[in-house]
Amino acid sequence: MREGTGFGSGWISGVVSATLGLMGLGAVACLHYPELLTTPNLREVYPLGFIRGLIHFVLITAFAFGVLSLVLRKDKRLGAVGVTAVILASLWGGAGVATPERVLAAEYIGLDFFLLDLFVLALVFVPVERLYPRIREQKIFRRGWRTDLAYFFTSHVLVQALLLVTAAPAAFFFRWAIDSEFQRAVAAQPGWVQFLAMVVAADFAGYWIHRLFHMIPWLWRFHAIHHSSTEMDWLAGSRLHIFDIVVTRAWAFVPLYALGFAPGPLTAYLVFISFHAVFVHANVRFRFGRWKWVLGTPQYHHWHHSAEVQDRNFAIHLPVIDWVFGTLHLPGEEFPGRYGIDGEEVPENFLGQLRYPLGKS
Ligand SMILES: [Zn+2]
Ligand SMILES: [Zn+2]
Repeated sequence: MREGTGFGSGWISGVVSATLGLMGLGAVACLHYPELLTTPNLREVYPLGFIRGLIHFVLITAFAFGVLSLVLRKDKRLGAVGVTAVILASLWGGAGVATPERVLAAEYIGLDFFLLDLFVLALVFVPVERLYPRIREQKIFRRGWRTDLAYFFTSHVLVQALLLVTAAPAAFFFRWAIDSEFQRAVAAQPGWVQFLAMVVAADFAGYWIHRLFHMIPWLWRFHAIHHSSTEMDWLAGSRLHIFDIVVTRAWAFVPLYALGFAPGPLTAYLVFISFHAVFVHANVRFRFGRWKWVLGTPQYHHWHHSAEVQDRNFAIHLPVIDWVFGTLHLPGEEFPGRYGIDGEEVPENFLGQLRYPLGKS
């Protein structure tokens, strides 16, 4: 008989232990090879003492929960993974590893970005989705979560490559505008004005590229991946074909690059959009009253993923754009009954989905 997953079964402690243990091991790897495994922008602002304390805390917690799971549960796999990861991380130097002299490597992968973002988002969204679920029966480890985690992993570790290709088309067309009088005037505006201008400009551009991805059959085969999730949660939004990410971001970045916003508001905007993108997919039932007409809510974007109502809510931040172009669907407080795409067999696994758009239609 399969062991249960309820409180007291050692499953929760096992999951916590395995997750934190592997993350702690990854963090120790980042301490060993910061030039290769960490993102320069993040590296510059890390409070290293705090980060070391956090890694230490994560490893100790993983170990304690691992032991608990090993005691409580007959199936020892989760506990063993957690405890083994902690032992390996400790033998490798643990949180106290001396970071080597800074070498400025040209290429890096954002392992730190992946670990930190996953840690923070899971810490926020797992409890919130338990406390205020839109669909109570939905599990944390619902169908397709491994696939979505693979997307989350790739889009984070490839952060440098994605930044490069995102900026390339905009730079190609608008390099001449850099530091022009016009751009200086834009960058001199108050931060919040620049922030709002970015939201409007990028969402307007994003609306049209998103609509094209729905309308043009060969583009749809790429975007169908994002719509293949049948259960929505904070991780589901990560499911995006790499081609979809590159084209959409590069396109939406063109107005931002051309207008030449200041680095501060631009950073604030990037943090906001990445959090918002996670939030609108979340399995939460918050109500926003009139504000739902102002800013994209989970209800608004969930309708975009509806299996029954198609081709609605193409914008991400501003429902008013959909209203203007006649594609808005936001009925009362209602959510869709089902998610996904009817009549299209998208594979379940990451590699299958990567190949899917290239196959025969
Ligand atoms: Zn879509
Ligand atoms: Zn979505």
